[in-house]
Amino acid sequence: MLYEDPPIAPQAGSASQNEEDARKELLSRCWPDGRKFCPRCRSQAPYQLAGGRLRCGGCRYTFHDFTGRWLNETGLSALKWTALAQAFAAEQSTREAAASVGISYNTAFKAFTVLRLALLALGADASQLLAPGAPLHPLLDASHTEERDHFPGTGLPVYGLLSRSQHIFVDLLPELTAESVLHFNHNFHLRVIRHGSILITDRYKTYDALILCGDENLPYHYLLRHPGQIFAESGGCPFWDFSRPRLRQFKGLSWRRFPLYLKELALRFNLRDQDLTPTLLAALCAPVPKFA
Ligand SMILES: [Zn+2]
Repeated sequence: MLYEDPPIAPQAGSASQNEEDARKELLSRCWPDGRKFCPRCRSQAPYQLAGGRLRCGGCRYTFHDFTGRWLNETGLSALKWTALAQAFAAEQSTREAAASVGISYNTAFKAFTVLRLALLALGADASQLLAPGAPLHPLLDASHTEERDHFPGTGLPVYGLLSRSQHIFVDLLPELTAESVLHFNHNFHLRVIRHGSILITDRYKTYDALILCGDENLPYHYLLRHPGQIFAESGGCPFWDFSRPRLRQFKGLSWRRFPLYLKELALRFNLRDQDLTPTLLAALCAPVPKFA
């Protein structure tokens, strides 16, 4: 008789019930082999000071275990971060997450933004989105407010959706802007569909679709209607079927924040059968990349 091994419970990042366990869990992700180093000059073996601080023997920098990492961008405790990551993995709204974790709406909103930035920073195109002058760079500055945002008009960024064997890739296409999409629509009959502030196109080169988010400054009235469906809405792009209802749920969708949501949805789609919590905690424990 054959016996099957009982399924092994996935190593959840979700077991932490108290601050000490949550902190241990995050520390093991910050320092996976236990060896600590200076976040400024990478020198090994800093020495321990009182109060859990560390000092670099090379450059004398004083830091702590979470210095320079995404999770240090808010004042949340390890336990609250862990609970927040679980809420995010369960697709709770900001309001639901704030209530379940026991924090204010504004704190939850900021923490979800940090989490989305941390996820986006894992991508190969992170520097194109986060470096000075790039769409998301102002979000790295805590004093940034969207009210002061300068709207780039038809210079808005455009993203490409590319499917490869059940996975989706969302790429910033720096050579294209909203103006290029309007131009292709007028002069090359590229089909473009509008959903609120979002424009999505028919196939373009190897991409299933081009997609962008504008606001009332974008001349939507300029779009020409061409007969027929776009590829993504004729069953060609399961990612779009997955994302379209979800994009409607996001509060505060703006052209600047749009790539955060696209990248989040791509991750949710690509890991759709898995618990996202370990990936989220790993992203939060990664160092915030430095751009010259
Ligand atoms: Zn150092």
